[in-house]
Order: sequence, then C-alpha cells, then structure tokens
Amino acid sequence: METKTETFKAKASNGTPQASSSHVEKFMEIIIAKNPGEPEFHQAVHEVAETIIPYQEQHPEFQKAKILERIAEPERVIMFRVPWIDDNGEYQVNRGFRIQMNSALGPYKGGLRFHPTVYLGILKFLAFEQVFKNSLTTLPMGGGKGGSDFDPKGKSDMEVMRFCQSFMTELCRHIDANTDVPAGDIGVGGRELGYLFGQYKRIRNEFTGVLTGKSLEWGGSLIRPEATGYGCVYFMDEMLKTKGKSLKGATAVISGSGNVAQYAAEKVIQMGGKVLTLSDSEGFIYDKDGIDVKKLAWVMELKNIKRGRIKEYAEKFSADFYAGKTPWGVKCDVALPCATQNELGEKDAEVLVSNGCAAVAEGANMPCTPEAMHVFLKSGTLYAPGKASNAGGVAVSGLEMSQNSMRLSWSREEVDERLRNIMKNIHSTCVKYGQDEKGINYVKGANIGGFMKIARAMIAQGHV
Ligand code: NDP
Repeated sequence: METKTETFKAKASNGTPQASSSHVEKFMEIIIAKNPGEPEFHQAVHEVAETIIPYQEQHPEFQKAKILERIAEPERVIMFRVPWIDDNGEYQVNRGFRIQMNSALGPYKGGLRFHPTVYLGILKFLAFEQVFKNSLTTLPMGGGKGGSDFDPKGKSDMEVMRFCQSFMTELCRHIDANTDVPAGDIGVGGRELGYLFGQYKRIRNEFTGVLTGKSLEWGGSLIRPEATGYGCVYFMDEMLKTKGKSLKGATAVISGSGNVAQYAAEKVIQMGGKVLTLSDSEGFIYDKDGIDVKKLAWVMELKNIKRGRIKEYAEKFSADFYAGKTPWGVKCDVALPCATQNELGEKDAEVLVSNGCAAVAEGANMPCTPEAMHVFLKSGTLYAPGKASNAGGVAVSGLEMSQNSMRLSWSREEVDERLRNIMKNIHSTCVKYGQDEKGINYVKGANIGGFMKIARAMIAQGHV
C-alpha cells in the first residue's frame, strides 16, 4: 500500500496518444509542484488527465476555459483544530478538514472520513473524484470531502461523541443544506452521523438535511446504508451483461468488511453469486463454502455493533484467516475491492487476470493502483473505476436530500428502483464515451461522461 511519503510515479496507463502524453506530463508537473507531498491527489488527477487532456485537445472551448486546471484546484479548503477530552480527562487534539472542491452542479457533497491516515492529500483526492462521480449520477450535486485524523477504533462511545461534537462545532459554520452536505465514509457510520447531526441542530437551531446517511427515524432515506454496495453490484451486473454473463453462480472476492463490503456481499448473494472472502486491516478470511445470509448477518453484528475483527469469523465458521494479506490471490469470477485506496497492486491484478477473473468493480475509492488498472485495461478484463461503480452511495444521498426538501419519505422499493436506474444510466454513459479498440474502457467513459457536464456548467457560470 502506498503511503504519503512515497513519490507518485506518473505513467501513461490507458492508451494516451504520444503528443497528448507529453501534455499530460507537463500538466502533472504543475499539479505536483502546486500540491507537494500529496501522492494520492497526484494519482487521482493523473488518471483523469490522461483521458481529459486528449479529449480537451479536440474541444478547444474546454481547453481555452482551462476547465481541468480549474477542477484540480479546490474552491475552498477549510482546516481546523478539533480539541476534545478523553475518558481519562486528558486533552486530545486532532485536525479537521473540509475540502469544498466544486459547486458547478450543486451544493458540495461528499463524505467525512475519520481515520489516522487522513491528511490533506487523501481528502483532496477523494474530493476530486467526488466531483466526477456526482456529475455522473446526473443529480444536482457538486463535490467535496472532509474528515479528520481521529481514529474511532478503540474509543468509547462517549469519546466518539465528544470528538464529533467538537468537530461539528467548527464545521457547522461552513455547511448547510444548500451549501455543503457531508455524509459518512471510512470511520463515519450511523453512530458518528448521529452525534454530528445532534450538535449541528443544537448550535444552528435548525432541523434540516445538512447531513445524509441519517437514521431513518430522523430524516434518513431507506436504502442509504445499502446503496454503495448494492449500486456497485448493480453496476457489475450491467458490465457482465455486455459479455452475456451474469452473477448467477459466479464466485466473488470482496475486500473490506465495512459498510460498502457488507452490502456488496449481500447483493452478490441475492443475485445468486457466492462470496468467498472479506477482509479488514489485519487480514482476510476465505470461506470456500461461501459467506451466506446467516454468516453475513453475523459479520454485520460483529463489525457494526461489537466492533470486532474479521479473524473472529474464521474461528466461528472454521474458515481460513490470512493475517496481513489481501484476498486477490483467491481464484474468482469477479472481484470487488471495497476497503481503501491502493489496496490492489500490479501483481495482484496479474494474479486475478491469470486466474480468469472476468470483471472488477471498485466499491472503494481508487483501490486499484495505476499499474493494476493498466493490467486490467491491457488484458481486456472488464474494469470499472470507483467514480462510476461506487456512485450509488452518493446517488441515494442525493435522493435523501430530495426527500428532506419535500419532507417526504419514499418506499424501499422506490429508492431501490431509482438507485438501479441511476447505476444503469451511469453504465450507459460509460459505454457512450468509453468505446475504444479493446471494447468499453470504463475509465475513459466515466472521466469524459463526468467531465462534460461540469465543463459546460463552469463555462456557463463564467469565471468561477
Ligand atoms: P468502513 O469504515 O465502513 O469500512 C472500511 C473497511 O475497509 C473496513 O473493513 C476497514 O478495516 C478496511 N480498511 C480501512 N482502511 C484500511 C487500510 N488502510 N488497510 C486495510 N483495510 C482498511 O468504510 P466504508 O465501507 O464506508 O468505505 C470503504 C471504501 O468505500 C472507502 O474507500 C470509501 O471512501 C468508499 N466509499 C464509501 C461510500 C459509503 O457510502 N460509505 C461511498 C463511496 C465510496 P478496519 O476496520 O480494520 O480498519
């Protein structure tokens, strides 16, 4: 896994023509100089630049308006101190962030991540990706991201509450339902969102849709917890259909065991597939009999309530546990990386391809390294970048915002149907813009499809 101290290695990875390739490298030199020490941000921008720079060269109106340069510069970065007191009465100090990246299409929208690895470069990469993702959903949402280097793991509920209250005491000055609407991400689930919402309401004296992913009883949407995982599997299903295949009887390797992984597993099972693996930061479990509905319910309780480790699954169900390893060596028909960035490297991709894996859909944000992406694109393996395949979460967040504005709640079936249609439409957009000599290049399709709408809006709105 890459860390922020490693240098980003720019490398043409999706068939960029020679002349454009040197323009990409020049563009990246400026990005790297302006944003030093942020390799994840460089990586995300480079992946988009490889497609968009050649595309802009055929569309001088976008080039002239310097759209890509403008998209790569956050509209606003907010960084703040988060002091709180732990259970021993001692002061703790964390750093909080909100990146308000782009508001051309609507209020800033994107999750909050609480994890010790959080720093500016991680959140800028996530905010940048979010701008394209939100555009692809076709809902009126700009892009943003935020969070803190606070680690909820091992903290008591009261410590998490005190931290969240302190974090929101500052953040509430910068957000509201029409300006910026955060949601959850790694380390920010139902518990954290509850404490954050409670503090916002208390300070602002407003009950509004300022956060999404809220609990059902107080303004949440049905299907929001499931949306990212379900959406990713709906997208995978659309990809497989292009090859006359389906998930019925397919074996699936999934990483992570958090929100996205849990509901990706649930949907794979519902669609007739067999889930072989789940993981966390300590390693992965391999269950050759498949993780069925009952075992998955046990995992959900383990992770969401007891806050335990995935290795406990191996003890409970006599499965194998591989400490410190990722699951990509397990033979499978489809792979769904749903844990974190850069968790699947070049060697892992080679093993997946040689084991006959037909399709990879990213549930996490940027889980595949550029080298791994290159392996998939070269081999003709169906490969969907997260900005397309994990857009279901933010899409249902957008639907939560609509329901909050109307003060109405849609049924489970209605939200699920809308989610499914949104994922189908994103797939169609990728097909429309992503055709190349090897078939559908979902990276190109998602980048151009997302970019077009933002570019037009930015030109229409003038020098913003
Ligand atoms: P959770 O916190 O619920 O789960 C994260 C999972 O990934 C856990 O199993 C965690 O293990 C593992 N993980 C986290 N960091 C690392 C690491 N450095 N190395 C190995 N494993 C790690 O988060 P989500 O499921 O919500 O998010 C997962 C991914 O999906 C992220 O990339 C997120 O940005 C992306 N995403 C999430 C959306 C959502 O709606 N929640 C929407 C779109 C994308 P452990 O418990 O040991 O840390």
